Amino acid sequence: THFGFKQVATEDKVKLVRGVFDSVAEKYDIMNDLMSLGIHRIWKRIAVQLCNVRSGEKVLDLAGGTGDLTTLLEKRAGKDGLCVLADINSEMLRTGRNRLIDRGLTGNIEYAQVNAECLPFEDNTFDCVIIGFGLRNVTDKDAALRSMHQVLKPGGRGLVLEFSHPTDPVTEKVYDFYSFSLLPKIGKFVAKDEDSYRYLAESIRMHPKQAELKTMMENAGFERCEFFNMTQGIVAVHRGYKI
Ligand code: SAM
Repeated sequence: THFGFKQVATEDKVKLVRGVFDSVAEKYDIMNDLMSLGIHRIWKRIAVQLCNVRSGEKVLDLAGGTGDLTTLLEKRAGKDGLCVLADINSEMLRTGRNRLIDRGLTGNIEYAQVNAECLPFEDNTFDCVIIGFGLRNVTDKDAALRSMHQVLKPGGRGLVLEFSHPTDPVTEKVYDFYSFSLLPKIGKFVAKDEDSYRYLAESIRMHPKQAELKTMMENAGFERCEFFNMTQGIVAVHRGYKI
């Protein structure tokens, strides 16, 4: 049946994505700095500013991986708040938890192994949900956005930080050369994994453009949706509210 076919395809992709992140979990942080020349730290800081998290709030860092966003969000939520670091991949989650504990961050952080497409949290739980460089890997993006919307409290913010599409042709040319020629080579030498970084470049090209993702958020129920381009649109933050 059509349904049966779709299920198999989804499982394959979930396995593929899981495999990709299993093989890079250890080198993940080094590669992020190397690939983005450290700029991912700035993208993350800006995204966290746009979260407007206040002391005492509950925040979900979805597809949180090694916990960069949680590290920044935890400070804003404070000791009375709560940050949940959630990821589908146990290896990423374990690496993330070790990192955060090593930084002395405990008490207001919890960990959850979840699939973004069907979040196991109760409706109206979080003041803010952010998915950073994760939506791209999710098979059913609409389901993930709906699920994010569902677990938000009324008045809560949903944010998507993700690679996007350059806003001018010069950036696009330079970026194409970088990601299709240079990036897989860096991946080969540093992470001994050319395929994962080829997959990265391809998944970025397949990801919906800024305006399309905004429409997808609206269709998932978010209101007052807007996006902010960073580094000429190489990365964008989308934000919407649950009213
Ligand atoms: N947010 C972190 C950051 O910005 O550094 C990690 C981003 S990492 C590129 C993407 C993460 O998405 C991986 O840890 C992967 O395991 C996770 N992921 C992929 N598919 C997922 C899904 N369906 N549900 C939850 N997490 C998923």
